[in-house]
This record gives sequence, structure tokens and C-alpha cells, in this order.
Amino acid sequence: MLHMDIIKKKSPNFNDRVGDAKPDYIVLHYTGTKDAQEACEAYMDSSVALSPHYMVDVDGTITQFVDEDKRAWHAGKSSWGGCEDMNSASIGIEIVNGGHAHGLPEYPADQIEALITLCKDVIARHDIPPLNILGHSDISTGRKVDPGENFPWEYLADNGVGFWPHPDEDDYKANIGVRSGLLGLGYSSQCEDVVLIREFQRRYQPEIFHKNATNVVCEYTHALVNALLREKHR
Ligand SMILES: [Zn+2]
Repeated sequence: MLHMDIIKKKSPNFNDRVGDAKPDYIVLHYTGTKDAQEACEAYMDSSVALSPHYMVDVDGTITQFVDEDKRAWHAGKSSWGGCEDMNSASIGIEIVNGGHAHGLPEYPADQIEALITLCKDVIARHDIPPLNILGHSDISTGRKVDPGENFPWEYLADNGVGFWPHPDEDDYKANIGVRSGLLGLGYSSQCEDVVLIREFQRRYQPEIFHKNATNVVCEYTHALVNALLREKHR
């Protein structure tokens, strides 16, 4: 494990994980702020009631706000695989990035390398499966769009954080409805098809967003869903 310096700040915004919940997911966010300072002020303010476990700044500096055994407040109203208390079930990591409100800046390499090191550490400590590395847009679909279409999910998976689907021939042939496939992966049944597809494609077909194209289901979308389901049921 690489050496990581972690700055500690104690946020007032946390409570106990509910029941016997343990961190079984990592939820990734962008801060949507102009800088780390702006995000930090919110996490230290009890009237804002917001906190991640960790924040990764653009230069790779990591700050911890909440102990891993406590329940940080980053997910809000959310759902994955029927779990509606994702704060109790996860470690939340905020990545400093202006997001859509600030012109969707790229994620710098130093920041992504630090994030990967941190995630691998958390994954090892809590034995978190690759399919349980999620974005806020996966669990608060329709309400949240972070970490956004610039986030390098494939690169993270190539470096041991999460799973990137590589469809095979059978994945193209399998005839499953996209909606039932997405619900099978964990997405909320409360969402309309158009929203589910848009957020799935934001993560797995970001080129559609980069080209300003329309979110339509294509053969490749089907194949991606099937490849993910195959991994889930492996
Ligand atoms: Zn978020």
C-alpha cells in the first residue's frame, strides 16, 4: 500500500450506522464547488448537515471528516439494490471538482491517483466487491449527476477500483429488457426509463455526452448491461 498522508478534520455531521450496517459500498461524488475550501466549510458546518468520510483535492491531498465506523451524510435520498439507507452502508468520498455548475472541469491525474490509492485501502479494509463502487448518480438517479461524465470510471477499474464491463458475443445476444436489467443491477425502480438510461450512459457511455448526442439505447447499451449482470451473477 502506498503511503498516504491524510489530514484529519472532525465534522460535526455524522451519527451511528443504523443497526449492524457495515460499509459495503463506496459512493463517489464531486463537490460541485469552486474549490476545496468551499466544500470544507460546508462539511464543518452543523447547519449544513453534509459530510463525506473523505475529500480528495485536485492536487491529491486527502482530508478525512468522519471515522469509517460512523455514518457520514453524503448520499441523501438514495437507493441501490433495495437499500435505502446508503449512508449506513457506505464510505462516501467527495472529489473536489466544480462539476456541471462550473463548466465540468477535467479531473487532474494527481487527484485520480490519490483517489485510487485511497479507494484500494478502503476496499481492502472492508472487503468491498468491485460492483459496489458507485457514483452518486447511480444511487440518487434523477436527483444527482455526480461524479459526472468526465469521471474516469474505466481507468479506475483498470487500476483495481470497480468493474468495467467488456461485453462478449453472448452479451450482445442476450435478450433482456434494459429496464429490468438496470433494476437487476441495483438502480431504483422509482425512476423512469429515460432517467435510468441517461444516468447509466453517463457512467458507461460518456462519449454520448461528450458528443452532445441523444441518450438512446443501442445494442452496445444492451451488451453493457448484460456484461454487468454476468459479473454480478458470476
Ligand atoms: Zn454527490
